[in-house]
Amino acid sequence: MHFHILTLFPDMVMQGLSQSIIGRAAERGLLSIETVNIRDYTKDRHRKVDDYPYGGGAGMLMQAQPVYDAWKAVKERIADRAQAVSPQHVPCGYATPQKGQAQDAREQTKQAASQRVRTVYVTPQGATFTQQMAKELAKEEDVIFLCGHYEGIDERVLEEIVTDYISIGDYVLTGGELPAMVMIDAISRMVPGVLTNGESGDTESFEGNLLEYPQYSRPEEWHGKSVPKVLLSGNQRMIDAWRREAAVARTRERRPDLYRKYEQGQECIASLKKQKLLHMDMIELIARGQAQIIFAEGANICLRDMASGIYFHTAENENMGKRMLKELAKQADAASGVGLLVLHQEFMVEQAKRQIGLSDIMACSQVVYTKREKLPVTGLYSVDGEEHAGQPGIRPLGMEHIDAVVRHYGEIVDREYIADRIAKQAMFGAFLGGELAGFVGMHAEGSIGMLHVLPEYRGRKFGKALETYMINRCLERGYTPYGQVAVGNGISKQLQESLGLCFSRSCVYWLEKAQEEEKER
Ligand code: SAM
Repeated sequence: MHFHILTLFPDMVMQGLSQSIIGRAAERGLLSIETVNIRDYTKDRHRKVDDYPYGGGAGMLMQAQPVYDAWKAVKERIADRAQAVSPQHVPCGYATPQKGQAQDAREQTKQAASQRVRTVYVTPQGATFTQQMAKELAKEEDVIFLCGHYEGIDERVLEEIVTDYISIGDYVLTGGELPAMVMIDAISRMVPGVLTNGESGDTESFEGNLLEYPQYSRPEEWHGKSVPKVLLSGNQRMIDAWRREAAVARTRERRPDLYRKYEQGQECIASLKKQKLLHMDMIELIARGQAQIIFAEGANICLRDMASGIYFHTAENENMGKRMLKELAKQADAASGVGLLVLHQEFMVEQAKRQIGLSDIMACSQVVYTKREKLPVTGLYSVDGEEHAGQPGIRPLGMEHIDAVVRHYGEIVDREYIADRIAKQAMFGAFLGGELAGFVGMHAEGSIGMLHVLPEYRGRKFGKALETYMINRCLERGYTPYGQVAVGNGISKQLQESLGLCFSRSCVYWLEKAQEEEKER
């Protein structure tokens, strides 16, 4: 990930971000931090970048011209870099562009890259920065931060370049450098590989709308205070239960606002559990802290997955269903709208197609692993990720495997999505003799999927090995493993049944916006 900071004080930013975890991540090439001195772009003979505000008032204002030119230079560099790596990064729905299309593809890539770049103006007038925003921004390849100073920046340039106005809290600082550093620190921690313990980014405060539980280290007794006994018990289930309770109590006491959100989520889960198998996707979204509740009234619930932007909808009857669709359309991001919608009742399908303008249905059964015990792996794969005595090793895929995944899965999900999944270390391969024999992944919204065994390796339990690996991985993280099997996919159904997964009685229906231009390609 690349951060670009437009500032009048580049040294201040670089000093703050070149140390510790972020500094090391930059050294390891996981992220890059570039500062751009806005003053270098002024056309003023005296290198001036500010002037008095029209209409009077205290202080000086940063002028539009140097800010705009500095931003434009960064954007052009980003577009050039995107062009240099094309066509690899072209989102190419159904196929890799052929030779003759490469020039077009590069041009499109350049345009797409330069159109999309998020430009964050750090300002007390923005939405307050949250952990969720950090997660969302961490998905971007590039983010530009614009730091104001003095009384701020001429409004006209902000209107032209800013995509996000973000504040770090309701107080006024002298400049945007500290807020930009705060945000970059929080975002960087969410970039895969930056934190050495891959878990720690997922198990901290604000996950699932809870603060983290209290923690203790050695010695067992200090100032007459003992570590809670349960933490010394070695019983992980009891420890987890204690931590959960402590997190809930702490959130209720210290952050009643957050606690109310947590409670609302719990009420939704209780309601969704009345048809647990059918609703496991929605239950898991809430439990994993990914859900934004768009609508909740009894059993009528509509969620947005903050990780993927996919909407999920379940309704008791058509009237409530329609009402929710209306609400959903209203709240859907004005720019992207509703790209994907998952319905949980067949009676809503035609209505949603009409009301939201969606098509391309895929009906799937929800399959859930309902037990808490991990599945046995003996005879399937070796747990250390290496190959031993004819048993495959299962380990995360690297970008060098993207073509193999696209070749076998590119009809269903596009290359850009697969690249994202690989980058997030959410795709795993089974390797035998150093060769990729099959792969599986976790979709952005949390279901297990994209399971594929290469033809020459079939009939050797590789599918079972990969699925078992994913189920156990989910359980280790406290997730309920689930997936979706398209109606009519007998082979997958057989595999899921053999592993003891339970099938929902009715289906979920995936609807998406028809992408005309991709279809034409
Ligand atoms: N006149 C501005 C106002 O009242 O909204 C405040 C300007 S402030 C003195 C100067 C710069 O510091 C801003 O342009 C912004 O970039 C940054 N800044 C100050 N407080 C901030 C906050 N709470 N969050 C993010 N940025 C902040």
